[in-house]
Amino acid sequence: MRFDLVTIFPDYFHALDFSLMGKAQETGLLDVVVHDLRDWTEDAHRTVDDSPYGGGAGMVMRPDVWGRCLDDVLAVGPGAAPRLRRVLAIPTPSGVPLTQRIAEDLAGANQIVVACGRYEGIDQRVADRYRQDEVEVLEFSIGDYVLNGGEVAALVLTEAVGRLLEGVVGNPESLVEESHGEEGLLEYPEFTRPRCWRELDVPEVLLGGNHAEIARWRRDQSLIRTAHRRPDLVAELEATHLDIHDREVLVGAGKILVPRRADVVIGLARSDEAGALARLAADTFPMACPPQLGETDIADFIGVHLSESEFTRMLADPDDHRILVARVKARDGGEDLIGYTVTVLGGPDGMPTEMVRPGRLELGAAYLSKCYVRAEWHGSGVSGALLERAVVDVEARARNSQIALGTNIANKRARTFYRRHGFSVVGRRTFEVGSVANIDDVLVRKVTPVVG
Ligand code: SAM
Repeated sequence: MRFDLVTIFPDYFHALDFSLMGKAQETGLLDVVVHDLRDWTEDAHRTVDDSPYGGGAGMVMRPDVWGRCLDDVLAVGPGAAPRLRRVLAIPTPSGVPLTQRIAEDLAGANQIVVACGRYEGIDQRVADRYRQDEVEVLEFSIGDYVLNGGEVAALVLTEAVGRLLEGVVGNPESLVEESHGEEGLLEYPEFTRPRCWRELDVPEVLLGGNHAEIARWRRDQSLIRTAHRRPDLVAELEATHLDIHDREVLVGAGKILVPRRADVVIGLARSDEAGALARLAADTFPMACPPQLGETDIADFIGVHLSESEFTRMLADPDDHRILVARVKARDGGEDLIGYTVTVLGGPDGMPTEMVRPGRLELGAAYLSKCYVRAEWHGSGVSGALLERAVVDVEARARNSQIALGTNIANKRARTFYRRHGFSVVGRRTFEVGSVANIDDVLVRKVTPVVG
């Protein structure tokens, strides 16, 4: 591929003689030719600019000088044969943002001519005129800020496109997992030796050699980073490319993609939210009940255990009752609670231990007594994100080394969900709803208390 860089400061482009770009030129993968625009001027002062029509500050680059230059440069390039692809790239802060997709597309061109503006830029007719020829014209920006000239942008374009040409980057694998790849995610954080530097450790998972775990961790980090740093990229993500684990991770980072895009915040319930929690609990509890349970029994249970006064009691006791909620912006501008968890860290509400295999449930295990999400948000990843946050919350309180829960034996969906989150069945319990004693599976997951 040939790059023709046209500028009034040719020395600027010595930067391309170094490193991979320098090597690519030496080996003939890349042909970079720098031109001094002033060579196409016709006056003694080698003038390239003039004052703007309509008035205003600054000077504008003259189209006649650019025209003579570009006619020559485009003629000498391989683009002289009409079937070859020639691109005239004009850096300007008012251009389309340069992206990896554009760089990938340009890597298929035969000749790219970059017209570096200075002053207030180049007379608009230059772009408009060449667009009428068999030249693709790309007015591009490298960011929402203003530089003094187009040379830096030309360097950026040359390197972004040049490194994609076959053979330029030694190990093509290293191009595969980079930021702005096909999926539109940012790259995960990278680490190297030393293992501990200024009291900062390399994440444990990267040291174990478990490739599946490392791949999962890296993908999680990519998703989290993208959500935090580039919400604009999350808005572009294709939801169908994300599995339920991906969606849970994104929800944990504040972004819901399905069933509709929304910002979500997971955090401790506020003391004034007892009423909203009771309504959410009454709406969601029936979904997990087995079909044999009558409406009256369910209503009785809700009236006693999920009432506003019961939530008021739990909210007043945050040492033992941890209530997390997921909030999204409501259509009226307020907030909607769409899911919640209740975890009991100890005391009389703790997990009943009858019918559990001996030794499998520790005395004093934290008890996840509720984990519910409104039906319309099922599949969004909110329940998994809430559950993982509840686990982190238990670990941070450092009182328990297990978290336990019960779920009706007929509720396969719940069992699969908890298993996916590291829980395993350790036995059964009876769970009374109204007048009916139901059989629940008891599931347990280890937690690592955070000490210090
Ligand atoms: N008057 C122009 C405007 O407000 O859009 C700014 C001109 S700027 C001072 C001079 C030259 O710097 C431009 O013609 C362009 O070549 C280059 N330039 C400045 N900022 C740029 C950016 N963000 N992306 C690409 N080129 C830029």
